[in-house]
Amino acid sequence: MDTAAPASSLWAATARPAPETPPLIGERRADVAVVGAGYTGLSAAIHLARAGTDVVVLEARQPGFGASGRNHGQVIPTLGAHGPDDLVRRLGPEKGERMNDWIAGTADLVFGLIEEFDIDCDALQVGWLMPVDSPARQAYVEGRHDQWAARGAQVRMLDRRETAEMVGSTAYYGAWLHERGGNIHPLSYTHGLARAALASGAAVHGETPATRLLPRRGGGWRVETPAGAVEAEAVILATNAYSDALYPGIKESVVPFRLFLGATRPLSDNVRKSVLPGRQSLSDSRGVLWPFRYDRDGRLVTGGDHVLPLFSREQSSRAVIERIRHNFPQVGNVEVEYVWDGKVAMTMDRMPRYLEPAPGLFAGLGYNGRGIALATAMGKLLAERVRGLDEAEMPIAKQKPGGVPLHGLAVPLARLALIPYFLRDFRAAFSREKRS
Ligand SMILES: Cc1cc2nc3c(=O)[nH]c(=O)nc-3n(C[C@H](O)[C@H](O)[C@H](O)COP(=O)(O)OP(=O)(O)OC[C@H]3O[C@@H](n4cnc5c(N)ncnc54)[C@H](O)[C@@H]3O)c2cc1C
Repeated sequence: MDTAAPASSLWAATARPAPETPPLIGERRADVAVVGAGYTGLSAAIHLARAGTDVVVLEARQPGFGASGRNHGQVIPTLGAHGPDDLVRRLGPEKGERMNDWIAGTADLVFGLIEEFDIDCDALQVGWLMPVDSPARQAYVEGRHDQWAARGAQVRMLDRRETAEMVGSTAYYGAWLHERGGNIHPLSYTHGLARAALASGAAVHGETPATRLLPRRGGGWRVETPAGAVEAEAVILATNAYSDALYPGIKESVVPFRLFLGATRPLSDNVRKSVLPGRQSLSDSRGVLWPFRYDRDGRLVTGGDHVLPLFSREQSSRAVIERIRHNFPQVGNVEVEYVWDGKVAMTMDRMPRYLEPAPGLFAGLGYNGRGIALATAMGKLLAERVRGLDEAEMPIAKQKPGGVPLHGLAVPLARLALIPYFLRDFRAAFSREKRS
């Protein structure tokens, strides 16, 4: 369990209020206990509760304390590292296409829940963009577009002029637009999911870390907390990059990789007319993350990774300013109002993980930075599996816990592995400067 709160997150400062989620005091029984109140756990709770299952959510801090309250807020219905053809190659045509269908519907699931439960979270389903940052990446981006287009997804390839108009930057050579994507206020969405879970009949307890997980004689589990316990037939572990040692192998299934984000002060109306005027969000095709979006008040939000991971306020603010200056020189001088960070759960093969490490024990994690849509969908899927969905019908194959060798060294090793991407991006930027 992680205890560091994001010091000055934009989302914490501007979120719609969280519902009351008092700590669990005393012992109780339930059909299902869910550990972790981010998108995975809360979506699981909503889908279980409204199907009539008695479900209790236990959250170590408050709903949205983990990545669900700290992320960039881009709703993206694709995997980052694998296109649809890759999944068919990895899994075979039937399982590959089943997973592709599942992924394709994930953004609509998010926006559908927002509509159904009237969640006030600045949701905009106005599209998500992957602009091409260097000519060498054109074929890669076009390939992703073509593969999704061949499967009937609402996608479009933009030429250089259309991209410049939609993004407000001449830094790009074109872009792939996914029209079902969009952006949300990530913490308000989490608060809304918590409210929806409660309204559907679930119990949600904040400040309630699960401290021990014990199999019960005769089946089921006992989840102990500092002031109580839940006895349940099934347990869903939804702790992702914030996993602790509650159950062996869960934490070791992912590399918890720290990323920074920062937000400017609200930009003027004039600047906003020229930068992302349609309020799409984007992650460009660089090897390291370069995302951009507005919040509802017109703050430009960006972030990513540092070569030297100091994560000081100064270092992250400087990186925010440099990114904006590089992409949007028309913005001029900007002041950074908020800087924060969070942990994203990466997997070795960059595929999400669905685990059933013991009878009645389920886990979903490892969304590799695409968890708003994927984790919401994983929560629903876990709920369906707990309620009896046949394993053969699952759109994602069950895996074994663990899988990250030398887990204690995984974060520094992953950072070293990023260096070639930084160098490639640096070389691409250098050759772009020379050409212009
Ligand atoms: C900086 C950043 C930017 C990102 N940007 C995007 C983006 O733009 N788009 C996108 O799709 N994804 C993005 N992501 C990824 C996305 O945020 C995650 O994939 C998603 O939030 C995962 O949700 P989750 O519910 O699985 O986990 P989390 O939201 O991390 O929830 C896990 C919860 O488990 C709790 N917990 C842990 N241990 C215990 C315990 N023992 N007992 C009780 N509770 C426990 C934690 O306190 C935490 O609240 C980003 C992530 C980061 C860090």
